[in-house]
Amino acid sequence: MDTIRGANFIPENDAERVAALERYQIIGSQRETAFDSICRLACELFSVPFSHISFLDADTEYIKAEVGLQGIERVGRAEGFCALAILQPEVMLIEDASRHAVLASHPYVTGNLMIRFYAAAPVITPDGFIIGTLCLIDQTPRGLSDKEQELLQHLARVVMEQTELRNDNINLLQQRDQFIEVASHEMRTPLTALKAAAQILDKKHPEDSILVAHVNRSVQKLSNMVNDMFDAIRLKEKTFNLNRTSFSLSTLIVNCLDHIRLVSKIELQIEGESNFKIIADEVKIERVIINLVQNAIKYAPGSTITIHTQKLPGFAKINVTDRGPGIEPQKLPHIFRRYYRSDPSGIQTGLGLGLYISAEIVKQHGGDIGVDSQPGIGSTFWFTLPVSF
Ligand code: ADP
Repeated sequence: MDTIRGANFIPENDAERVAALERYQIIGSQRETAFDSICRLACELFSVPFSHISFLDADTEYIKAEVGLQGIERVGRAEGFCALAILQPEVMLIEDASRHAVLASHPYVTGNLMIRFYAAAPVITPDGFIIGTLCLIDQTPRGLSDKEQELLQHLARVVMEQTELRNDNINLLQQRDQFIEVASHEMRTPLTALKAAAQILDKKHPEDSILVAHVNRSVQKLSNMVNDMFDAIRLKEKTFNLNRTSFSLSTLIVNCLDHIRLVSKIELQIEGESNFKIIADEVKIERVIINLVQNAIKYAPGSTITIHTQKLPGFAKINVTDRGPGIEPQKLPHIFRRYYRSDPSGIQTGLGLGLYISAEIVKQHGGDIGVDSQPGIGSTFWFTLPVSF
């Protein structure tokens, strides 16, 4: 046998099967901890050194998660064992591949990987299509009891449920994006009219200046939100252009702070070296700093806020530190995601877009962004920008 792929190894309903797989938008996706955890659990439960979750389309076996297979992401359908395992709704069990009629001469068996034991439970969609497998591998021959096979099938069902949940989340995100796109477009025109009306009112009725100032503040707040909504979509679609110029970091920080002090009275400390120029999109970097400082004001009320700048070899680093409540470690990996709010039921409202927008802006500049945070002590949001000093 040259390859696993052959007329006999393609199920009759393969086109429909592949169409069912495509519904899940999982092909080519990155590693995700939920799938990694299932593989780790499988290794522990069945005492095997290797396990993987694969999805199989017309030509390729995509390895969504694995343990022990050195980060391999895909193999040709003709090479991987998954092509065989998707042919049956039960567990495919090979106790010793070196004695298997089809697989004995396979390079995975004769080569370094030295597969002997192989067991795969199919991942089956609710409408009955086998889209992938959960596999166990060992380098010594062994068996799998009926009970263990049942357990493996259970785990494969968990893989399917996770795939469904993941897809529901993607669909929800897409719906939210569509809503945000339409809403931000629709709101821009009336908002501009509102701003103009407030200006006219200010000129015509100076006696109402307090009222007009109040209107202006609310319009500005609304306008910031609409801009965030509008920009989040453009950043997602990568249609956000940078207008790079050379400017002084210290001037930029002073401008940011002037802007912030207009709306809130807070104690802000500036530390470090900022008396140098950087080449970047000034308006957008200003927005990142304002976002981080405004978040510190919002989520760490009453705390001293420090902006610390550093000139390091090849890049500048800007830290915004507060002594607020901090963020729990399990929330940190998600904090820069679109629409993520770490405490949606809390008193502070928001769209969960500020950090996402900041991260996209920094990434488009070729920099890094991150947060170091300890609950009860505070948070330092930081970002870097590559510079030629
Ligand atoms: P929003 O403020 O609209 O929720 P962001 O993207 O700016 O959106 O922030 C995402 C989440 O990160 C916030 O909901 C908040 O829970 C958390 N967060 C941001 N900055 C801080 C901070 N300085 N301290 C504690 N939590 C923060």
